[in-house]
Amino acid sequence: MRITIDPDRCVGAGQCVLSAPQVFDQDEDGIVTLLAEPGTDEEPRARIAGALCPSRAITVHEG
Ligand code: SF4
Repeated sequence: MRITIDPDRCVGAGQCVLSAPQVFDQDEDGIVTLLAEPGTDEEPRARIAGALCPSRAITVHEG
């Protein structure tokens, strides 16, 4: 799995940080940042974060 983010789409809702705090963070403006690619243990949470993001700013690349 690989995660890409599009900060231009992010609306700062914070769902990703709540869902996968090891993978996502928010900068001082609330915009998403990528802390680290998800380890195997974090992959389910990263998928949930991608599904919950209201602005489709997170893309989960499987494989
Ligand atoms: S859930 Fe989406 S919109 Fe909200 S902070 Fe994360 S990337 Fe941005």
